[in-house]
Formats: sequence, structure tokens, C-alpha cells
Amino acid sequence: MKITVIGAGVIGLSSAHELAAAGHQVTVVHDQPLLESVSSVAAAIWFPYHSENSEAADKLLRHSLARFEELSAIHETGIDLRHGLNVDHLPGADRSWTKIVSGTAEAPKEDLPSGADSGVYATVPIITMTTYLGWLRDQVVELGVKFLQGTVNDLAELKDSADLVVLAAGLRGGELLGDDQSVYPIRGQVVRLANTKGLTDWLCDDDYPEGVTYIIPRRDDIIVGGTDTANDWNREVEPETSEAILSRAMKLVPELEGLEVLEHKVGLRPARETIRLELVEGHAVPVIAAYGHGGAGVTLSWGTAQRVVELAEQLVPAH
Ligand SMILES: Cc1cc2nc3c(=O)[nH]c(=O)nc-3n(C[C@H](O)[C@H](O)[C@H](O)COP(=O)(O)OP(=O)(O)OC[C@H]3O[C@@H](n4cnc5c(N)ncnc54)[C@H](O)[C@@H]3O)c2cc1C
Repeated sequence: MKITVIGAGVIGLSSAHELAAAGHQVTVVHDQPLLESVSSVAAAIWFPYHSENSEAADKLLRHSLARFEELSAIHETGIDLRHGLNVDHLPGADRSWTKIVSGTAEAPKEDLPSGADSGVYATVPIITMTTYLGWLRDQVVELGVKFLQGTVNDLAELKDSADLVVLAAGLRGGELLGDDQSVYPIRGQVVRLANTKGLTDWLCDDDYPEGVTYIIPRRDDIIVGGTDTANDWNREVEPETSEAILSRAMKLVPELEGLEVLEHKVGLRPARETIRLELVEGHAVPVIAAYGHGGAGVTLSWGTAQRVVELAEQLVPAH
């Protein structure tokens, strides 16, 4: 089939990759430069943060984890498997993710920050998005996918050029369908530090009402976060928020003290009560909706792309 994917974030690119690998003729249309999407702001740790807790979501998580683990063997992807600690302050935290990750271990009390209830050690993929998105785009181009820069304002614009549209438009996913106002932003602000001390272990600590504090060391930098404010559309960096983030993080990891600040970033997570991942009929062209991944779009990306291919196959006419 001729398929147009709207969106070149992690969901659009992964879907384009899998559709092209399955033999479809794919075009990606996007209106933001590759490194200005929300996907480029992600830390990105493989972790089902604000993700749907369901059997369907578990399938997406498992598939994505396996794919990232496999890709971590290729240095150019920017993916590393890294050890770290996830800290919970309230008893009864959702630990469903530990059945998906192998080798997790309960942290001894003496390893936990003061006031914490429990913690889990795990080794998971850490994805340096600026490197990874560029690598993924190159793979997609190699598979013959074409890229067009521009905004799609109406699905009818695509009816003569596409047999199927994949709507991977993130926060704007609901707009083109006209029947979905349920996507909303969860604003996140992060600070990027130079990793000149060679830190490797990550730490996520949920002891903060406005968002988890996380320290995600990558190869050359460290992403320090974060904030988590629903329905906040502000894309500007708030200097006092950056200071608060760094102060929280330095209490947990004093080695961050003195590291050079490289950049401040803000992203609006495309949140929805559940991910929308389904065939939608009744438009000028059949659509697969693939949006609403909230704070876990990278974590769910390859599983989402696999499901997009399964849904597309349902439309291929039988020979
Ligand atoms: C601070 C922060 C930290 C995060 N950390 C993590 C993490 O550690 N792990 C994790 O898994 N996730 C993380 N996330 C969440 C993750 O970034 C998102 O879930 C993910 O990027 C969503 O990807 P997407 O492809 O759906 O959307 P986006 O990346 O927003 O891409 C949307 C694309 O659609 C295009 N588009 C939209 N509408 C149109 C249109 N009408 N016409 C043409 N093009 C259009 C845009 O140009 C863009 O290319 C984080 C997010 C933030 C903000």
C-alpha cells in the first residue's frame, strides 16, 4: 500500500520503519524539524512512566524493550543498557513493570534516600534521543521512505496520494480526526549537564508532587528532571524551575555539583487516558491512529510500530 505517516517523532519514525520493512511504500509528512519534536526532549529512559497499565500496553512494552536491547549492540544508535535505581516513597507503588524487565532486584534500605519506602535496581535501555532520532531517520531513508516537510490541515489532502494514513501527530493527534478532544499536554522541563565526571547509573525518585526527580547519565551528558504539570501549554524555560530541579537532584546525587549546564529544555507530553492505537474509518482515507503516549512514547515506540503494521495488514486486499 501507499502509506502516509503524519509525524516524524519517535512514533512516526518507528512506524515508518516497520511499514517500509514490511514492503509498503511510505511517505512521512512532518512540520517540525526532527530535533524540535517532543521526542527529542525525552531523557530517554525505557520506563513506563504515566503509561497505561493493561495487557495491551504490556505487549507494546515487552516488544519495545526487546528491540532496544537488541539495538544497544549497535554503538551508532545512541542506546546503552544502564543500571540504576527507581525509588518509591509511598507503600504500594505500581511495580507491574518489574515483570517485564529481567534481573530487577529490591534495593536494601540503606541504599535508599531518607524517607523512601522502597526501591528497585534494574538495568534498562537509556536512549540518547538526539543521536537515536538521526540514526532512525537514516535507517528509514535507507528503506526507501520519502520525507515531506509541511502541515497536513485536512486528511482529505492525502486521499489521492495515500491508501492509508498513520496519524502519529503526538499532541495534535486528535485534531485531524475531529472526534477526539481528549489529548492534553503534561509539561516537562529538564536540564542537560555535561557528564564530565563519567557518571553511569541512573536514579528516579518519586518524592515530589510536581514530578519525579530523575538523573539520567548518557554518554556525554546527563538529563536532570523534571516537572510534570498537566494542561500547562507553556513552552518557555522557567529559570526558577531549573534551579529547583537541580537543587532536588543534587541532594540525591551530590556529584552533580559543579557540572556545566549545557541546555534547558521543555516538552509537552502528549497525554491521553489511554493510548489511541486503532483503525479509524469514516474519513476521506482510512486512518490508523497512533498517538497519546504521554510520558512513555519512546518506551512504547517499537511495540506501537509493530501494532501499526498488524492493523495495516488488515486493510491489504486478499490476493
Ligand atoms: C521532559 C520529557 C521527558 C521525557 N522522558 C521520556 C523518557 O524518559 N522515556 C519515554 O519513553 N518517554 C519520555 N518522554 C515522553 C516522550 O517524549 C513522548 O511520549 C514521545 O516523544 C511522543 O512521541 P510522538 O512521536 O507521539 O510525538 P512528537 O515527538 O511530538 O512528534 C509529533 C510529530 O507530528 C508532527 N505533526 C503533528 N501534527 C502535524 C500535522 N498536522 N501535519 C504535519 N505534521 C504534524 C510534528 O511535526 C512531529 O514531527 C518525555 C517527554 C518529556 C517532555
